[in-house]
Amino acid sequence: MSDVPEKTALSQALQRLDLRPRTLEPGHVWLVGAGPGDPSLLTLDALNALAQADALVHDALVSPEIVAAAEQAEKFYVGKRGGRLSIPQDEINALLVRLANAGRKVVRLKGGHPYVFGRGGEEARALVEAGIPYRVLPGITSAFGGLTSAGIPATMRGVNGAIILATGFAAVSDDRPDWTALARTGQPIIVYMGLTHMAATVADLIAGGLAHETPAALIENATLPQERTVVATLGTLAEAASRENIVSPALIVIGGIVALRAELAGRE
Ligand code: SAH
Repeated sequence: MSDVPEKTALSQALQRLDLRPRTLEPGHVWLVGAGPGDPSLLTLDALNALAQADALVHDALVSPEIVAAAEQAEKFYVGKRGGRLSIPQDEINALLVRLANAGRKVVRLKGGHPYVFGRGGEEARALVEAGIPYRVLPGITSAFGGLTSAGIPATMRGVNGAIILATGFAAVSDDRPDWTALARTGQPIIVYMGLTHMAATVADLIAGGLAHETPAALIENATLPQERTVVATLGTLAEAASRENIVSPALIVIGGIVALRAELAGRE
C-alpha cells in the first residue's frame, strides 16, 4: 500500500513545505499537545517531537497509535492505573525533571492542547523552578476538534459572538466557574471533565437563567473511530448521558450552536 496516490501526494507536499524541524536537545523537555485523538490531527511539530524523543511521558488520553509513532523512545505511562487514581502531579513533575537531568530528550505528550485544562502550566512551572529548558507545542484542543467532528460550528454569525470553555471538575472554589454568571452571557459553553458533576452543573446553569430547552450535546471519544454524539436539551442531558451510558472522555456542549448540527448534516 506504499504507493497509494494520497500517500505520495502527502509526502510530495511535505517536501515542498521544506520544514526546518527544531532539534530536541538532550536535557530539554517539550510539552507536546497530541490533539483530540485522531493521529491526523497531530501537528507537524508534534510529529517532529515524537520522532526525536528518547523518553516519552504520556497518559491515557493519548491514542496508542500516536504513542507508537515514537518507536525509539522509552515510554513512561503516567495515566490512571487500573481505574484507580492517576499518578500525583508532583510525581509527574519530578519524573520530567529527573529525566531531563539525566540528559534524556524528553517529550511530555498530553491530550489536546497542553495549556488547556491539561495541567501543562504546572509542569512548565516545575521545569522553570528546576532550571530545565523547555518548549510548549500547541495541539488542537478537544473542544474544537470534537465540535467539528460532531458537525457543530464553534461560532456562527447570528448565533453566538463568544464561546466559553469551562471545567466541570474544579470542586475547589478558586477554579470553579461561576455557572450563574456564565449562564447569563447566553453564549455556548463547552464543559471539559463534566460527567462526574453534570447534575450540579446543569442545575446551576438553569438557576442562572438558561432554559431547560437549551440545545445540548455530549460528544464521547471525539475524532476517534468510536466517537458518539448524543443530542439532548439542558433539561434532559443527565438522563440522556445515563441512558446512552456516556463515559469519559466526553465533552458537554450547551447552547444554540448544537441546533446547527441537523442543518449542517450531510458531510462526507
Ligand atoms: N488538554 C486537553 C484537555 C484535558 S482535560 C485538551 O486540550 O483537550 C480532559 C478532558 O478533555 C476530558 O474529561 C474530556 O472532557 C476532554 N477530552 C479530551 N479528549 C477528548 C475526546 N477525544 N473526546 C471527548 N472529550 C475529550
